[in-house]
Amino acid sequence: MKTPEIKFSQYPFIVPTEKRVTNKLDKLIGELKECGSPKTASVAVRHWNKYGEELGTELSLIYVKYSVDTKNVAYKKAQERMDELSPLISKYSNIYEKMMVKASFRKDLEKIYGKYLFKMYDSSLKAFDEKIMPELAQENKLVSQYDAVLGGAQINFRGEVLNLSQLGKYMQDKDRDTRKEAAQAMDKWLGEHEKEIGDIYSQLVTLRDQMAKKLGFKNFTELGYLRLGRIDYNAKMVKKYREQIATEVVPVCQKLYKQQMKGLKIKNPQYYDYNLTFASGNANPIGDVNYIVDQTKAMFTTLSSESQTFINFMVDNELLDLVARQGKAPGGYCTYFPLYKSPFIFANFNGTADDVFTLAHECGHAFQAYLCSNIKIPEYQNPTLESCEIHSMSMEFFAWPYLEKFFGAQNEKAQFTHLKGAIEFLPYGISVDEFQHWVYEHPTATHEERCAIWRDIENRYTPHKKYDDTPTLAKGTYWMRQSHIFGTPFYYIDYTLAQVVAFEFFLLDRKNHEKAWKKYVKFTKCGGKYPFVELLEKNHLKNPFEDGTIHKIIGPLVKVLKGFDQSKF
Ligand SMILES: [Zn+2]
Repeated sequence: MKTPEIKFSQYPFIVPTEKRVTNKLDKLIGELKECGSPKTASVAVRHWNKYGEELGTELSLIYVKYSVDTKNVAYKKAQERMDELSPLISKYSNIYEKMMVKASFRKDLEKIYGKYLFKMYDSSLKAFDEKIMPELAQENKLVSQYDAVLGGAQINFRGEVLNLSQLGKYMQDKDRDTRKEAAQAMDKWLGEHEKEIGDIYSQLVTLRDQMAKKLGFKNFTELGYLRLGRIDYNAKMVKKYREQIATEVVPVCQKLYKQQMKGLKIKNPQYYDYNLTFASGNANPIGDVNYIVDQTKAMFTTLSSESQTFINFMVDNELLDLVARQGKAPGGYCTYFPLYKSPFIFANFNGTADDVFTLAHECGHAFQAYLCSNIKIPEYQNPTLESCEIHSMSMEFFAWPYLEKFFGAQNEKAQFTHLKGAIEFLPYGISVDEFQHWVYEHPTATHEERCAIWRDIENRYTPHKKYDDTPTLAKGTYWMRQSHIFGTPFYYIDYTLAQVVAFEFFLLDRKNHEKAWKKYVKFTKCGGKYPFVELLEKNHLKNPFEDGTIHKIIGPLVKVLKGFDQSKF
């Protein structure tokens, strides 16, 4: 049966109560407990999953409503209640998973659901115990607090009150004084909130370390990996991978930065100068948000009939909230409402080229969610995060042939900047990762020590960054703006791994579009059926962890950059 389409504004806003959730989950667990055969168990599983869709939809909707308007008292309260409720839901999931893996007829269940599901359960069981529930609730609360501090930023800039995303536009202005002033305004705001944000993080690190120890781990690192469902790679492999980036990519980026500053004729470049790629100004989209949505619609319509149906579904059902506003949480994300089989895209458009790429990126996530919405086993709908970012980051490159529609005559400028930025992202990405490994291996470190380590990592991977006019950032506080560090520890290397795979799709797309798109859709439709490395193998994609992968991929990319006639820019 086809799910009836309803618009986002018509979704009923339901805040589940503890009593209702407990009653329902008790009943479902009871049903599974009574099962004596794989056949009856699969009926119980179906019921469990059905309620999961309902509850998942309610939780997603609360999160979306809250992040769209963090100042709304009702949404804020609802989000707070969910932060408290979610450990209880984890408790029930834990009981459910335990029963599944310990079932006397597990082998038969594995035949029905596949072995990977049980591997996922095995690892998620290690990451939870009832005794850490108070810490989990507290952790959620702190993350929401962080979102509220950043979302609530009100920065006075040249007579306007701006949030962090809105200020971002001025940080890449053509005029150096404007960039500097914007960077200083941000720095001042960060300085005023440094203690508050630093305290939130210290509390988070302490809590996470406590949970890890209660569960029998040496520190949080292993637990962090388990939480992300990483079952076919580990911290040691990630470290070696970071070394590949350091050796192969850092020098390339330093060269690119030097060229950039030569072009801009800036003698003592500061960190904010790198936001401007060309003296003539960055490529900005030639239309407003409606224009960008229209062009995105046209792009997906041309790409394939599946993507056409998808984009119409998104637009017709109000599943995009794109413009930066006061009180909106920072960043961008894509979430999913299982009950309506609908993805939802959240962004903070600020009039820069990022808007176009952010929309393509989030549409990549949404397209995957849409394509995989018919996978019956919910755990197999979405892969782990590094694989999800392949869907999105590759889509940014599939947008290349259409960029003229978004940027007009500045199309090539936008392409150049996008690719340059994607390469330069890798050293930043490994910085965020290395920082977090250090933090959780030194859980009692002070805020000052953390900042010193951050600055040290920056000096190694992004030595061009100078903060002479921005005293707060000069202390090593740039990481405080990276929300992943707070909300989802160790979720960041994922973007770099995905970037490497997306580069492969990009290079293939330039050679043979039809083949590349087909490969991408096939990859996307795998959803979450395999862990990361296996997913790559199944789709004949290069494994970034393998020695030499980065070397192989970086050369052709530099060649593409060299192919642009920069004198035109
Ligand atoms: Zn993403």
